[in-house]
Amino acid sequence: MSFIEMKDIVKIYGKLTILHKVNMSLEKGEVISIIGPSGAGKSTLLRCLNHLETIQGGSILVDGDYLAEEKNGEVVYAPEAKAKEILGKMGMVFQHFNLFPHKTVLQNITMAPLALKKKTPEEAQKQAMELLERIGLADKAGEYPNMLSGGQKQRIAIVRALAMDPEVMLFDEPTSALDPEMVGEVLDLMRSLAKEGMTMAVVTHEMGFAREVADRVVFMAEGKILEEGSPAELFDSPKDPRLQDFLSKVL
Ligand code: ADP
Repeated sequence: MSFIEMKDIVKIYGKLTILHKVNMSLEKGEVISIIGPSGAGKSTLLRCLNHLETIQGGSILVDGDYLAEEKNGEVVYAPEAKAKEILGKMGMVFQHFNLFPHKTVLQNITMAPLALKKKTPEEAQKQAMELLERIGLADKAGEYPNMLSGGQKQRIAIVRALAMDPEVMLFDEPTSALDPEMVGEVLDLMRSLAKEGMTMAVVTHEMGFAREVADRVVFMAEGKILEEGSPAELFDSPKDPRLQDFLSKVL
Protein backbone atom coordinates (compact mmCIF):
# COMPACT_ATOMS: atom_id res chain seq x y z
CA MET A 1 0.00 0.00 0.00
CA SER A 2 1.26 3.49 -0.85
CA PHE A 3 1.71 6.14 1.81
CA ILE A 4 -0.99 8.21 0.14
CA GLU A 5 -3.72 6.77 -2.02
CA MET A 6 -6.31 9.00 -3.63
CA LYS A 7 -8.87 6.93 -5.43
CA ASP A 8 -11.55 8.04 -7.89
CA ILE A 9 -11.54 11.59 -6.53
CA VAL A 10 -14.47 13.68 -7.68
CA LYS A 11 -14.60 17.38 -6.89
CA ILE A 12 -17.59 19.44 -7.90
CA TYR A 13 -18.10 23.19 -7.57
CA GLY A 14 -21.72 24.06 -8.20
CA LYS A 15 -22.46 22.51 -11.56
CA LEU A 16 -18.85 22.18 -12.55
CA THR A 17 -16.93 18.95 -12.12
CA ILE A 18 -13.32 19.92 -11.49
CA LEU A 19 -11.82 16.50 -10.78
CA HIS A 20 -13.10 13.50 -12.71
CA LYS A 21 -12.31 10.32 -10.77
CA VAL A 22 -8.65 11.09 -10.30
CA ASN A 23 -6.34 8.40 -8.96
CA MET A 24 -3.06 9.44 -7.43
CA SER A 25 -0.64 7.72 -5.11
CA LEU A 26 2.54 8.70 -3.36
CA GLU A 27 5.12 6.39 -1.83
CA LYS A 28 7.09 7.18 1.30
CA GLY A 29 10.20 9.09 0.26
CA GLU A 30 8.90 9.74 -3.22
CA VAL A 31 8.85 13.16 -4.87
CA ILE A 32 6.18 13.78 -7.47
CA SER A 33 5.69 16.88 -9.57
CA ILE A 34 2.24 17.69 -10.82
CA ILE A 35 2.32 19.70 -14.02
CA GLY A 36 -0.26 20.87 -16.52
CA PRO A 37 -2.05 23.91 -17.88
CA SER A 38 -3.72 26.47 -15.66
CA GLY A 39 -7.17 25.35 -14.55
CA ALA A 40 -6.31 21.63 -14.86
CA GLY A 41 -7.22 20.96 -11.22
CA LYS A 42 -3.68 20.52 -9.88
CA SER A 43 -4.13 22.83 -6.95
CA THR A 44 -7.60 21.47 -6.22
CA LEU A 45 -6.18 17.94 -6.04
CA LEU A 46 -3.66 18.96 -3.36
CA ARG A 47 -6.30 20.95 -1.50
CA CYS A 48 -8.58 17.91 -1.48
CA LEU A 49 -5.74 15.80 -0.12
CA ASN A 50 -5.35 17.90 2.98
CA HIS A 51 -9.04 18.66 3.35
CA LEU A 52 -8.99 22.33 2.45
CA GLU A 53 -11.68 21.16 0.03
CA THR A 54 -14.19 18.40 0.55
CA ILE A 55 -14.61 15.78 -2.11
CA GLN A 56 -17.90 14.57 -3.55
CA GLY A 57 -16.66 11.15 -4.58
CA GLY A 58 -13.76 8.80 -3.95
CA SER A 59 -11.47 7.92 -1.08
CA ILE A 60 -8.32 9.32 0.48
CA LEU A 61 -6.06 7.01 2.42
CA VAL A 62 -3.01 8.32 4.29
CA ASP A 63 -0.56 5.95 5.96
CA GLY A 64 -3.23 3.27 6.08
CA ASP A 65 -5.95 5.49 7.56
CA TYR A 66 -8.98 6.78 5.72
CA LEU A 67 -9.32 10.56 5.73
CA ALA A 68 -12.31 10.13 3.45
CA GLU A 69 -14.00 7.00 2.28
CA GLU A 70 -16.76 6.52 -0.23
CA LYS A 71 -19.45 4.25 1.14
CA ASN A 72 -22.64 3.53 -0.75
CA GLY A 73 -22.08 6.49 -3.01
CA GLU A 74 -21.41 8.94 -0.18
CA VAL A 75 -18.15 10.30 1.06
CA VAL A 76 -17.64 9.90 4.79
CA TYR A 77 -14.81 11.77 6.47
CA ALA A 78 -12.87 10.45 9.44
CA PRO A 79 -14.07 11.65 12.86
CA GLU A 80 -12.44 14.87 14.01
CA ALA A 81 -9.69 13.42 16.19
CA LYS A 82 -8.66 10.92 13.53
CA ALA A 83 -8.83 13.55 10.78
CA LYS A 84 -6.59 15.82 12.86
CA GLU A 85 -4.07 13.05 13.33
CA ILE A 86 -4.05 12.33 9.59
CA LEU A 87 -3.84 15.98 8.58
CA GLY A 88 -1.01 16.47 11.08
CA LYS A 89 1.13 14.25 8.86
CA MET A 90 0.89 16.71 5.98
CA GLY A 91 2.56 20.08 5.71
CA MET A 92 1.47 22.49 3.01
CA VAL A 93 3.14 25.45 1.37
CA PHE A 94 1.14 27.83 -0.78
CA GLN A 95 1.89 30.26 -3.56
CA HIS A 96 1.36 33.12 -1.12
CA PHE A 97 3.24 32.61 2.07
CA ASN A 98 0.46 33.54 4.53
CA LEU A 99 2.88 34.45 7.30
CA PHE A 100 1.25 36.34 10.15
CA PRO A 101 2.38 39.97 9.71
CA HIS A 102 2.04 40.91 13.37
CA LYS A 103 4.16 37.99 14.58
CA THR A 104 7.91 37.70 14.39
CA VAL A 105 9.58 35.16 12.19
CA LEU A 106 10.28 33.00 15.23
CA GLN A 107 6.68 33.25 16.47
CA ASN A 108 5.39 32.35 13.01
CA ILE A 109 7.38 29.12 13.16
CA THR A 110 6.63 28.15 16.76
CA MET A 111 2.97 29.13 16.76
CA ALA A 112 1.34 25.98 15.43
CA PRO A 113 3.49 23.45 17.33
CA LEU A 114 2.72 25.39 20.53
CA ALA A 115 -0.98 25.80 19.83
CA LEU A 116 -1.28 22.07 19.21
CA LYS A 117 0.86 21.36 22.28
CA LYS A 118 3.19 19.28 20.16
CA LYS A 119 6.22 20.84 21.83
CA THR A 120 7.24 22.78 24.91
CA PRO A 121 8.15 26.44 24.30
CA GLU A 122 11.84 25.58 24.74
CA GLU A 123 11.69 22.70 22.28
CA ALA A 124 9.71 24.73 19.75
CA GLN A 125 12.13 27.62 19.97
CA LYS A 126 15.20 25.40 19.71
CA GLN A 127 13.84 23.65 16.65
CA ALA A 128 12.77 26.94 15.04
CA MET A 129 16.26 28.36 15.49
CA GLU A 130 17.79 25.21 14.00
CA LEU A 131 15.48 25.49 11.02
CA LEU A 132 16.33 29.16 10.60
CA GLU A 133 20.05 28.34 10.81
CA ARG A 134 19.56 25.78 8.12
CA ILE A 135 18.17 28.36 5.72
CA GLY A 136 20.66 31.02 6.80
CA LEU A 137 18.05 33.28 8.35
CA ALA A 138 18.73 32.87 12.06
CA ASP A 139 19.48 36.60 12.26
CA LYS A 140 15.89 37.35 11.15
CA ALA A 141 14.24 35.46 14.05
CA GLY A 142 13.08 38.64 15.78
CA GLU A 143 11.97 40.49 12.66
CA TYR A 144 8.52 40.85 11.18
CA PRO A 145 7.67 39.33 7.79
CA ASN A 146 7.31 42.69 6.04
CA MET A 147 11.05 43.22 6.52
CA LEU A 148 11.82 40.15 4.41
CA SER A 149 12.06 39.48 0.68
CA GLY A 150 9.57 37.19 -1.03
CA GLY A 151 12.15 34.42 -1.28
CA GLN A 152 12.95 34.69 2.42
CA LYS A 153 9.25 34.66 3.33
CA GLN A 154 8.64 31.57 1.26
CA ARG A 155 11.60 29.75 2.81
CA ILE A 156 10.25 30.65 6.22
CA ALA A 157 6.82 29.36 5.20
CA ILE A 158 8.51 26.08 4.26
CA VAL A 159 10.34 25.73 7.58
CA ARG A 160 7.16 26.73 9.39
CA ALA A 161 5.51 23.70 7.84
CA LEU A 162 8.55 21.57 8.70
CA ALA A 163 8.27 22.63 12.35
CA MET A 164 5.18 20.43 12.57
CA ASP A 165 7.34 17.41 11.73
CA PRO A 166 5.21 16.38 8.75
CA GLU A 167 5.68 13.08 6.98
CA VAL A 168 4.78 14.56 3.64
CA MET A 169 5.06 18.08 2.26
CA LEU A 170 2.60 19.45 -0.28
CA PHE A 171 3.70 22.42 -2.35
CA ASP A 172 1.20 24.42 -4.38
CA GLU A 173 3.15 26.49 -6.89
CA PRO A 174 5.55 27.71 -4.22
CA THR A 175 7.62 29.85 -6.58
CA SER A 176 5.07 31.34 -8.92
CA ALA A 177 4.45 34.50 -6.90
CA LEU A 178 8.17 35.23 -6.55
CA ASP A 179 10.38 37.62 -8.43
CA PRO A 180 12.54 35.55 -10.80
CA GLU A 181 15.75 36.17 -8.89
CA MET A 182 14.24 34.58 -5.76
CA VAL A 183 12.98 31.38 -7.33
CA GLY A 184 16.38 29.66 -7.08
CA GLU A 185 16.74 29.94 -3.31
CA VAL A 186 13.31 28.39 -2.74
CA LEU A 187 13.91 25.58 -5.23
CA ASP A 188 17.29 24.92 -3.59
CA LEU A 189 15.62 24.40 -0.23
CA MET A 190 13.03 22.08 -1.78
CA ARG A 191 15.77 20.18 -3.58
CA SER A 192 17.64 19.66 -0.32
CA LEU A 193 14.47 18.37 1.39
CA ALA A 194 13.98 15.93 -1.46
CA LYS A 195 17.58 14.72 -1.12
CA GLU A 196 17.01 14.09 2.58
CA GLY A 197 14.19 11.75 1.69
CA MET A 198 11.17 13.94 2.41
CA THR A 199 8.00 12.70 0.74
CA MET A 200 6.79 15.53 -1.48
CA ALA A 201 4.03 16.42 -3.92
CA VAL A 202 4.85 19.58 -5.82
CA VAL A 203 2.53 21.47 -8.15
CA THR A 204 4.93 23.49 -10.23
CA HIS A 205 5.54 25.41 -13.43
CA GLU A 206 9.27 24.91 -12.98
CA MET A 207 9.90 22.20 -15.54
CA GLY A 208 13.64 22.15 -14.85
CA PHE A 209 12.93 21.39 -11.21
CA ALA A 210 10.36 18.71 -12.08
CA ARG A 211 12.79 17.01 -14.42
CA GLU A 212 15.71 17.12 -12.03
CA VAL A 213 14.11 16.45 -8.64
CA ALA A 214 10.92 14.46 -9.19
CA ASP A 215 10.92 10.68 -9.13
CA ARG A 216 7.65 10.79 -11.03
CA VAL A 217 5.87 13.47 -13.01
CA VAL A 218 2.10 13.62 -13.22
CA PHE A 219 0.46 15.53 -16.07
CA MET A 220 -3.04 16.86 -15.48
CA ALA A 221 -5.45 18.56 -17.84
CA GLU A 222 -9.19 19.13 -17.65
CA GLY A 223 -9.53 17.56 -14.24
CA LYS A 224 -7.82 14.29 -15.16
CA ILE A 225 -4.40 12.73 -14.98
CA LEU A 226 -3.58 12.10 -18.60
CA GLU A 227 -0.07 10.75 -18.27
CA GLU A 228 2.46 9.95 -15.57
CA GLY A 229 5.91 8.46 -15.46
CA SER A 230 9.56 9.21 -14.91
CA PRO A 231 10.76 12.70 -15.89
CA ALA A 232 12.60 11.18 -18.85
CA GLU A 233 9.46 9.42 -20.07
CA LEU A 234 7.27 12.48 -19.80
CA PHE A 235 9.65 15.13 -21.00
CA ASP A 236 11.55 13.20 -23.66
CA SER A 237 8.84 10.98 -25.10
CA PRO A 238 5.42 12.36 -24.15
CA LYS A 239 2.60 10.25 -25.56
CA ASP A 240 -0.59 12.19 -24.87
CA PRO A 241 -1.14 14.89 -27.51
CA ARG A 242 -2.19 17.36 -24.82
CA LEU A 243 1.07 16.76 -22.97
CA GLN A 244 3.01 17.19 -26.21
CA ASP A 245 1.17 20.45 -26.82
CA PHE A 246 1.73 21.64 -23.24
CA LEU A 247 5.46 20.88 -23.38
CA SER A 248 5.83 22.61 -26.73
CA LYS A 249 4.56 25.77 -25.03
CA VAL A 250 6.48 25.64 -21.76
CA LEU A 251 9.86 24.14 -22.62
P1 ADP B 1 -4.71 24.50 -11.49
O1 ADP B 1 -4.10 24.42 -10.13
O2 ADP B 1 -4.39 23.33 -12.35
O3 ADP B 1 -4.42 25.80 -12.20
P2 ADP B 1 -7.19 24.70 -10.04
O4 ADP B 1 -7.21 23.47 -9.23
O5 ADP B 1 -6.77 25.96 -9.38
O6 ADP B 1 -6.30 24.45 -11.34
O7 ADP B 1 -8.61 24.95 -10.66
C1 ADP B 1 -9.29 23.97 -11.40
C2 ADP B 1 -10.64 24.51 -11.82
O8 ADP B 1 -11.45 24.69 -10.67
C3 ADP B 1 -10.57 25.86 -12.51
O9 ADP B 1 -11.48 25.83 -13.58
C4 ADP B 1 -11.02 26.82 -11.45
O10 ADP B 1 -11.65 27.92 -12.02
C5 ADP B 1 -11.98 25.98 -10.64
N1 ADP B 1 -12.07 26.40 -9.23
C6 ADP B 1 -11.05 26.38 -8.34
N2 ADP B 1 -11.47 26.79 -7.11
C7 ADP B 1 -12.79 27.06 -7.24
C8 ADP B 1 -13.81 27.51 -6.33
N3 ADP B 1 -13.55 27.76 -5.04
N4 ADP B 1 -15.07 27.67 -6.84
C9 ADP B 1 -15.33 27.40 -8.13
N5 ADP B 1 -14.43 26.96 -9.02
C10 ADP B 1 -13.18 26.80 -8.60
